[in-house]
Amino acid sequence: MLLKLAYYGNPVLRKKGEPVKEITDEIRKLVADMLETMHTEDGIGLAAPQVFKSLALFVTCVPNYVDEKTVIPGVERVFINPKILSYSDVTDNLTEGCLSIPKLYGHVIRPIKIVVEAMDLDGKIFTQEFVNYEARCILHENDHINGKLFIDRLDSEERQLFEPKLREIKKKYSSKA
Ligand code: ZN
Repeated sequence: MLLKLAYYGNPVLRKKGEPVKEITDEIRKLVADMLETMHTEDGIGLAAPQVFKSLALFVTCVPNYVDEKTVIPGVERVFINPKILSYSDVTDNLTEGCLSIPKLYGHVIRPIKIVVEAMDLDGKIFTQEFVNYEARCILHENDHINGKLFIDRLDSEERQLFEPKLREIKKKYSSKA
């Protein structure tokens, strides 16, 4: 089932997600619907607050663009109650977008390597290292469950440039909600 997206300006995007206490049928259904919604919207990640669920849960599926002709398809991943255990000192500065902030892309500095601990859909805790754009995507989604958006991480000059467009998005989607 496709889920309704929350857009920039909606207070749910600024709330910290509650920990998931138990993997119930409801959670399994939510994850399935989030994956479907993410793929339909051409996203590579989606966090529960973006679909009006204030929970510490997100999904990702990040393809690897090896070169112009070679794309390794992404693997669907589910992160429940995630914790980032470590961040590399090495960072890069690449553009990001967000399904909740349509058609805006800005530069965010993020570590290129992280170690994440989270629960999977079977209720098992796993610890895994992620690199490059997948690490970036996970950090972006992890921000969402902490009420943070990528635009909060832009440098002030780029953020200024974004302001009129952000006001537009806020106006457009709040009148629809
Ligand atoms: Zn986002």
